[in-house]
This record gives sequence, structure tokens and C-alpha cells, in this order.
Amino acid sequence: MSIIYLDNNATTKVAPEVLEAMLPYLRDYYGNPSSMHTFGGQVGKALKTARQQLAALIGADESEIIYTSCGTEGDNAAIRAALLAQPERRHIITTQVEHPAVLNVCKQLETQGYSVTYLSVNHQGQLDLAELEASLTGNTALVTIMYANNETGTVFPIEQIGLRVKEYGAIFHVDAVQAVGKIPLNMKTSTVDMLTLSGHKIHAPKGIGALYVRRGVRFRPLLLGGHQERGRRAGTENVPGIIALGKSAELELLHLEEATTRERKLRDRLEQTLLAKIPNCEVNGDPTQRLPNTTNIGFKYIEGEAILLSLNKYGICASSGSACTSGSLEPSHVLRAMGLPYTTLHGSIRFSLCRYTTEAEIDKVIEVMPSIIERLRAMSPFTNDDAGWLQGQEQALIHK
Ligand SMILES: *Cc1c(COP(=O)(O)O)cnc(C)c1O
Repeated sequence: MSIIYLDNNATTKVAPEVLEAMLPYLRDYYGNPSSMHTFGGQVGKALKTARQQLAALIGADESEIIYTSCGTEGDNAAIRAALLAQPERRHIITTQVEHPAVLNVCKQLETQGYSVTYLSVNHQGQLDLAELEASLTGNTALVTIMYANNETGTVFPIEQIGLRVKEYGAIFHVDAVQAVGKIPLNMKTSTVDMLTLSGHKIHAPKGIGALYVRRGVRFRPLLLGGHQERGRRAGTENVPGIIALGKSAELELLHLEEATTRERKLRDRLEQTLLAKIPNCEVNGDPTQRLPNTTNIGFKYIEGEAILLSLNKYGICASSGSACTSGSLEPSHVLRAMGLPYTTLHGSIRFSLCRYTTEAEIDKVIEVMPSIIERLRAMSPFTNDDAGWLQGQEQALIHK
């Protein structure tokens, strides 16, 4: 059975051109770019080109790019660096809906004498700039806020936030892992000081990411060792990964406009058709300020995991909002922060598209979803009864 892959916010397929570009650096050109000989030196030249390709995607200078192993490392490095750069400041502002790569660092910093403000979001997952303004003080070292949410696709007004952050002299870090390749970015005209991106979310392989650090922003490395990355991230370069990320950046820039227009159309058709055909469901997230490839839909009175298992029988890959670890019924922290009703929290599904998504794939999802939902609801004794459904959930927990 062929796969219909609609889980591109979790990870993406490596583009064929990207694989072709990196293969010679796995097979033939294995020299160390720091070596004195020509064999290594030619690898260094290829790295320079790749760095220019990546810098071009976000409108940065190549000297402002630091390669990392992943988005998580970029987030960790940025947060630590910002705090070390201004050691007298002990306050951090972030949001309740960040990726764990930011939230869990902040939680640990709270145990190390830092105070952290977690900004709230409204029912559409959007921030309140007045709350941000009220939270900023001269003690704020760092504001770290994601560009776009991985679960709902909600896009935050990053430049408006940045203007306020600058007034207080704090460092502004943005986790743009989901925005890169989906929203045009230009660091030259931006208020962002540091920006995280990750290769495997933009059709490069896993194991490579980058952190943009604006020239002039003080940076302290997370990893100490050799002089790689101008002493800002030690360790022999992931050469095939860097080459791959360069190629994928080139392709993202080339396809950005046409691909996002196409994805938005497909996404809107999927969303509108499902909403029209299936009763008691709604879109989670900001209806206008949203990534073009993402839709998160809450189907009331059923479990997201049950929907995923049914979709899986058709080879359809999607994701539920909930991090359903160790069989707990704990719903997603993002949807919970949005204050969604209990019944929606548990039955939410995310479809995330990419430039390889086809009309036929979307047709297939539209074809199978209504009957999946109908069948699951027929098995649920509490359909159309919020209180009863909730009680049933509590019973299920007690009997676990
Ligand atoms: C995937 C993701 C990350 C983590 O990136 P990795 O490369 O998987 O470590 C961080 N932030 C957001 C918003 C993401 O979607």
C-alpha cells in the first residue's frame, strides 16, 4: 500500500535533489574541511557554497549562520547564549505553546534562579501583545517565541513583538523551525536576534539544523572544542548534512511562492470539505494568521488516537495534538493553553502538507474521513453529550 504522508510538521521526505547533492560527500569527498591538503580543502569550498545557499533563504549573511545538529540544539544554544551574554538579567519571556525544546529549557532555568513568564494564548492560539508589553522589564534578558506553531500552524506577529522587545534591550530569539520555507523571511530587515531552523522539516535529512545569530549579538557557545563555526559550535562539521541543507534551502526558496499557494489551496479544500461533511467539528488555530500547509481539526466525542489508527489502515499518516505518552489521556499543551472544550481537546487531528502532496491524496482523505468519524461516533456512547463524555473519560482513567 502506498503512503499518503500528511505529517510534514513532524518530519519531511528528503528531496531527491537533496539526496543527490549529499551522496558524493558520503561516498567520495570524505576529507575534513579543516585539513591542509587539497582533498579536505575542496570540501571546505563546498561548505561555503552551502552556507551561502542557506543564508540566502533567510536573508542573512553567511557569517551569521551556525550549524547545529537539529532544531532542539539551536533552541538550547540560543537560550543559553542569551542568558550568558547578559548575566545580570534574570527574567525570560516565552509562551505557553512553545515546542518542548524551548519549554523544557525554561522549566529547568526556573530551578536555577531565573523567573520565566509564559504568555497565554486565546481560543485561536494567538498572543495578546498587551500581555507581552506588561511582562517586559529591564530585567528581561531574553524573549523566546516561536514564529509558527507546529500543532495548529498559528503564526505570531514576530516583527511587532520584536519592536517591543528592543525597547527593553532584551535579546529576541525565534524558533522558526515551522516557518522556514513556508513564510518569506528576511533577517536584514528583521528585529530578530537569533533564529532556529531544522533541516528535516524542509526536505533535508535529520541531524542537521542551524542557528542564525545577528552580527553584533554576543554569543557564547554551548559546545566547546575546536574552532569550527568560528569557535561558536565545536565539532567536525556534518558535511553531508550541511551540503543537504544548502540544497534544500535553495529548493525551498525556489518553490516558496508557488508551493505555498498550492498547499494552501489543497489545505483549504480538505478543511472546508471535512467541515461541511462532518458534524460537530471545528478548526483549531488562527483562521487567518496560519501556516499554509497546516490544519488542525477537532472532532468532538471521539479520541484522536482512534482516528489515527483508522487512517493508518488506509496508509494515511497524520498526527493527533496529544502527546499520548504511556497511555495517559493527557491532551496537547498547545490545545489546552487555547482553552478548548474538553471534548475537542481529545479528538483533534493535524494534517500537514508539503510540496509533494497531490490532489488525489487529499481526495482520498476527504473520501474516507466522514465514514471513519461516523463509525467511531457510533461506538461512543456519549455523542452530543459533553458532560456524559467527560464522565466516561474519567471512568476510563480510573479503570486503567
Ligand atoms: C520539530 C520542531 C523542533 C525541533 O526540531 P528538531 O530538529 O526535531 O530537534 C523545534 N521547534 C519546532 C517548532 C518544531 O516543529
